[in-house]
Amino acid sequence: APVPSDSPTIFDKIINKEIPSNVVYEDDKVLAFRDINPQAPTHIVIIPKVKDGLSGLSKAEERHCEILGRLMYTAKLVAKQEGLDDGFRIVINDGPNGCMFALCSCHDSFEERELWLSAKRVKDHHRETYCAIVMLSGSFVGQSVYHIHVHLLGGRQMNWPPG
Ligand code: 5GP
Repeated sequence: APVPSDSPTIFDKIINKEIPSNVVYEDDKVLAFRDINPQAPTHIVIIPKVKDGLSGLSKAEERHCEILGRLMYTAKLVAKQEGLDDGFRIVINDGPNGCMFALCSCHDSFEERELWLSAKRVKDHHRETYCAIVMLSGSFVGQSVYHIHVHLLGGRQMNWPPG
């Protein structure tokens, strides 16, 4: 069954500081923190503090235009703050085709997931716990956190098409 677009995600715990994250920017509307599984020397996730049904970009309504613009503007501010003067990339994954890895946070039991064909543990340096990055049944599983987020990637040459 489809997950309701207002269901809480791990990002709510990050917003509420119930789990730690490495915050690089915060104001009353948005939060930006370092990704625990960085795909580039700089990899930051930028999220709205209030989800308002925006589990992904495909759920956007006209009322979301302001927060969508603010996420983009925050990406620019953080890119500058991070010294990404040679350029950067913005990514928004949406839905099952969006991205290739599922990330199961340390709240999920690694051992209990029998479907996992290949998995690797990554050290979460901020939480000093282990998380698992998994590929489910060898297929791609898409957007992994249903709370809209902008990825800011930089510090290396980005390839196109990204694959
Ligand atoms: P998606 O695949 O949904 O576009 O991206 C979700 C991103 O959130 C992934 O890059 C993943 O590494 C990151 N992420 C998931 N859970 C956590 C967490 O608990 N802490 C941090 N810092 N990043 C997370």
